[in-house]
Amino acid sequence: MKNVVVIGAGFSGLSAAASLAARGFKVEVIEKHKLPGGRARKFEAEGFTFDMGPSWYWMPDVFEKWFAGFDKKPSDYFDLIRLDPSYRVFWSKDESTDLPANYELLKSKFEEMETGAGEKLDRFLKEAEYKYNISMSDLIYKPSKSMFEFAEWKILKNALKIQLFKSFKRHTASYFKNERINQLMEFPILFLGGTAENTPALYSLMNYADMKLGTWYPMGGMYKVVEGMQQLAESLGVHFHFNYNVERILTDRNKTTGVRTDRGDFIADYVISSADYHHTESKLLSHGHQNYSSEYWDRRVMAPSSLIFFLGIDKKLDALEHHNLFFDQDFKKHAEDIYKKPTWPSQPSIYISAPSRTDDHVAPEGMENLMVLIPVAPGLEDTEAIREKYLKLFMLRLEKLTGESILDHIVYKRSYAISDFVKDYNAFKGNAYGLANTLRQTAFLKPKLVNKKLPNLLYTGQLSVPGPGVPPALISGQLVASEIINSA
Ligand SMILES: Cc1cc2nc3c(=O)[nH]c(=O)nc-3n(C[C@H](O)[C@H](O)[C@H](O)COP(=O)(O)OP(=O)(O)OC[C@H]3O[C@@H](n4cnc5c(N)ncnc54)[C@H](O)[C@@H]3O)c2cc1C
Repeated sequence: MKNVVVIGAGFSGLSAAASLAARGFKVEVIEKHKLPGGRARKFEAEGFTFDMGPSWYWMPDVFEKWFAGFDKKPSDYFDLIRLDPSYRVFWSKDESTDLPANYELLKSKFEEMETGAGEKLDRFLKEAEYKYNISMSDLIYKPSKSMFEFAEWKILKNALKIQLFKSFKRHTASYFKNERINQLMEFPILFLGGTAENTPALYSLMNYADMKLGTWYPMGGMYKVVEGMQQLAESLGVHFHFNYNVERILTDRNKTTGVRTDRGDFIADYVISSADYHHTESKLLSHGHQNYSSEYWDRRVMAPSSLIFFLGIDKKLDALEHHNLFFDQDFKKHAEDIYKKPTWPSQPSIYISAPSRTDDHVAPEGMENLMVLIPVAPGLEDTEAIREKYLKLFMLRLEKLTGESILDHIVYKRSYAISDFVKDYNAFKGNAYGLANTLRQTAFLKPKLVNKKLPNLLYTGQLSVPGPGVPPALISGQLVASEIINSA
């Protein structure tokens, strides 16, 4: 029986571990934290349960397909509900839009904002559905080793139709004139860590995921998905070692022989690192074994980091929905502060997740559980004073927009930002979401899954193929497992 060591128990590590154990490999997962989940960990404090990372459960089909690979269903592990409205957008003090789950109602909302936009949405989403289906059946499950994978006739022909090379901005602008509609269409691009100008039109598939497939929520929180995957992996024989920090990937000439941790060595036939790619290459591998130089990393466009506040509020906030987007400030200026001239944003768009609007289990009775998040440029100076300044600004803005007093009702507060991402996840420049999915960093232009000099060392996770987000992390783990299964 061949044995595999997986570094990291985030979504990609869990996915790779379970996939290999199901095919008869002996798998050990080595994780520096005391629990799995990585960027999707949770913590509990004073009666609140906070998800620390992902809060949007999108693309339910990817989760279903993943569990089906083990003859299981998501419902074997957690209860999913579809949120309705999917989310609320605040435009100004007196204006907000709820995005209904029902498609016909959604179309009428578009029609109210721009005459003819309902019918245009039909056409836009029909094309987006086509891209989604092609991507999910063909492109996303490719290991992206070279452009020749995409050169099969069917894919090439489809690639032209899915506009890999046209910008997202030009694409949406060719359908809609209304600025608010364009903002609604562009917001999922924030998940991909890019701007509408530099993200390929291919990613309008995210609008299909948003508006047709819907926004879902696992009762108890996103962490229920992590627990389900851990339970499944353990039932397949995966062994987890928590509170173990990997310090070195061991090598012998042209192969890896395992890893050195702060608590001893683990010998393995294969090593998969789901830790951030840059950390694996720059800190865990000895000189000469890297796939990429430090100059390569310096040239990468990173997805944003985030400034996050986990807040417990001692009253209910009826003005909020489960997911809330605050687009009352200049969207373009915020994107410039992230990508063009990296600086702390002067007019940030804010996202607030309030799972306690849906789920009684995540906050004490009569209280609200909030995760307040603003995307910020990676690598910025991050001090307590800056965080505090932003908390005050946000809260005053929120009070104004919702007409509720909030600042005086905070009974629990924890901030989390760039330096925490570095400390907790060894994240390059403190990125939250890996590499931006720009035109030059898509598909076969992403960092490779296999080490070129040590063929039994592989990489998985959001900095590799296919990219950032929970569904891609699940697929990334499957891809890397297939590489090993095919080579064993
Ligand atoms: C704030 C935030 C919000 C997000 N929101 C969403 C969302 O709503 N929907 C969505 O789909 N996606 C979202 N994402 C993205 C998604 O969470 C990530 O893309 C995904 O969880 C990444 O999984 P991963 O396995 O690649 O990496 P990670 O989760 O980072 O896992 C890597 C693991 O490796 C461990 N590790 C690192 N170095 C070492 C070492 N030396 N030794 C041992 N262990 C090590 C880390 O502790 C970690 O557990 C969000 C991310 C963040 C940060």
